[in-house]
Amino acid sequence: MNIQDGALTPNKIHVQAIPDTLFQQKNVSLDVLRLDELHPVVSGNKWYKLKYYINKAMQQQQPVLTFGGAYSNHIVATAFACKQVGLRCAGIIRGERPSLLSPTLADAQNYGMELHFVSRADYRSKRQLLENANLKHYYVIGEGGYGPEGALGASEILRGFPLADYSHIVAAVGTGTMLAGLITGAQQHQNVIGISSMKNNTGLEADIKNLLPDAPLPPFTVLHQFHFGGYAATTPLLIETMNKAWYQHRLPLDIVYTGKTYFAINALVADNYFKAGSRLLMIHSGGLQGNRSLGQNVLAF
Ligand SMILES: *Cc1c(COP(=O)(O)O)cnc(C)c1O
Repeated sequence: MNIQDGALTPNKIHVQAIPDTLFQQKNVSLDVLRLDELHPVVSGNKWYKLKYYINKAMQQQQPVLTFGGAYSNHIVATAFACKQVGLRCAGIIRGERPSLLSPTLADAQNYGMELHFVSRADYRSKRQLLENANLKHYYVIGEGGYGPEGALGASEILRGFPLADYSHIVAAVGTGTMLAGLITGAQQHQNVIGISSMKNNTGLEADIKNLLPDAPLPPFTVLHQFHFGGYAATTPLLIETMNKAWYQHRLPLDIVYTGKTYFAINALVADNYFKAGSRLLMIHSGGLQGNRSLGQNVLAF
């Protein structure tokens, strides 16, 4: 069995050229791989990252357990994928149960995920939670899908794609699972650049290296200065950048990941970080539902 069957069939995605005057001035080009178009719920990189985990849980006929916060794309994607393939699933959610569930958690619950709220302190020691006898029979997917199966799935993002002309592949980073997959799938002459969505996530490079196969791979860099105040934090400048991307290019971005990555690309190009002639491919990793935490009319789309 395979999650590509039935309701998880991926849609066709396309590559969007971004003809911006700044890029033309600097003789740099930017294309965006629109993984956000892949599936309405199991969006973007989550489809790839979940694939091998879900297949394994199905083979072993085990219910699924995973972890996340109130706005986690991973939680809702896992809930939906499990529902589609007929697996029970549970989510360990960081923080006390709120009186009103976030839209993300409400969806996850509607898809059949059992939500278990734990204090931030307990959440931090996740591994101890798993010692609980009631949880022993679950197939556990790491927080954010972090792990070798997630990276293996993400390594297929670039498969069968005409890649050779790009000099740089740029993507947002949370746990680093997708970036590990992109590094694995990229070609030797390319540079893979990750834009961290978190502040001071100093263990990130090591987390990524842990997921890389022992083989010659292209170089990678993680940039840590584009977090806009921290994970899921926004500023008026970020919102303005996202609205501009929509008005100028009809490119919808999210506040947690891809908006920051798109901002970073523009800032780096303006700063001559990429030499003339560079051809950039940005991975639009999905996650547009993160925007639901914003008030209405903040975004133009
Ligand atoms: C989850 C997510 C990421 C982070 O992926 P990691 O593999 O955890 O680094 C990036 N972009 C979007 C849109 C996401 O939803």
